[in-house]
Amino acid sequence: MSPSSVVGYAARAAGSALEPFTYEAPALGDQDVRVSVTHCGVCYTDVHAIDDDYEVFSFPLLPGHEIVGNVSEVGRAVSGPKLGDRVGIGWQGRSCMRCEWCLQGEEQLCQDIAEAGTWTPYGGFSCSVVVDGRFAYPLPQAMPSEVAAVLMCAGISVYSPLRAYAAAVPASTKVGIVGVGGLGHLAIQFARALGCEVTAISSSPGKEQEARAFGADHFIAVGDTAAMERAEYGLDLLLCTTHCGIDWRPLLMTLKKNGRLVLLSFPRLALGSVDLVSHQLSITGSFIGNRKTMRDMLAFAQEHHILPRVELMPMSQVNEAIRRVRENQARYRIVLVNDMAV
Ligand SMILES: [Zn+2]
Ligand SMILES: [Zn+2]
Repeated sequence: MSPSSVVGYAARAAGSALEPFTYEAPALGDQDVRVSVTHCGVCYTDVHAIDDDYEVFSFPLLPGHEIVGNVSEVGRAVSGPKLGDRVGIGWQGRSCMRCEWCLQGEEQLCQDIAEAGTWTPYGGFSCSVVVDGRFAYPLPQAMPSEVAAVLMCAGISVYSPLRAYAAAVPASTKVGIVGVGGLGHLAIQFARALGCEVTAISSSPGKEQEARAFGADHFIAVGDTAAMERAEYGLDLLLCTTHCGIDWRPLLMTLKKNGRLVLLSFPRLALGSVDLVSHQLSITGSFIGNRKTMRDMLAFAQEHHILPRVELMPMSQVNEAIRRVRENQARYRIVLVNDMAV
């Protein structure tokens, strides 16, 4: 039965703290499912959205897009998830299914992507969400919900480019993971499981031990000029997972000729063109992943024991969780457990 109203946590204005927020339960379209949220991860993209860094959101804004929950209602035309199923939902909650990209199975590139976010109209820091049932993914039974939650955005965001660019290279690809945080600690694990030789690159020298424990073969602290010079021309692929300031020239010098830099986050770009052109480097953005890659990623993560390191917090402490993410204090991902009366 449809609830008449839903409770969640929303920012009333750009940059403001999240407050309890009651809204009218969205009606279900034919392809939609309603999912009772049990867990929701906190992603740095939520912080960008709350701060209105993209200037595309309207407020009140109810973020949250690393969701796990149980299907509580299904639309008339839904053929996948069934009532009571435990599902995961990521950044994308729907797509037009008609544009050239959707027809190719690249739904993350949908022409209507601005309308496709799970937080349209309301996201996962809430008792329930409504999304297209084709974007609610069944989860492996043995996978803990907090693990699945983190995989829904951080996991797919790193797995998709590794599959596309690292696994496509026949010999053992040498991959550099820039940033050992929420995305980076997962990228190290996935890259290692895909057979890559992994170099973790971090501005925090103190993260070396943990980076190696996640599976990194090598570690470079960005301030270590000698180590950066020794790494020159060594890597096939660089995955940039950090939003912090980056000194791009020494970083790009770690790429082999014809190497590729993939941006997963939104750091400021200040690149010289000379090395880029003369070394024939490529720079690529990568945005979440399509539905097929999401299903592959979940199966691969389960098979290879990919385990995000998660701090659990009650959803009622969402502002404290956001503060910790904003200040880079999360180790390595925070997942909120819904403690609201449903
Ligand atoms: Zn995210
Ligand atoms: Zn589309």
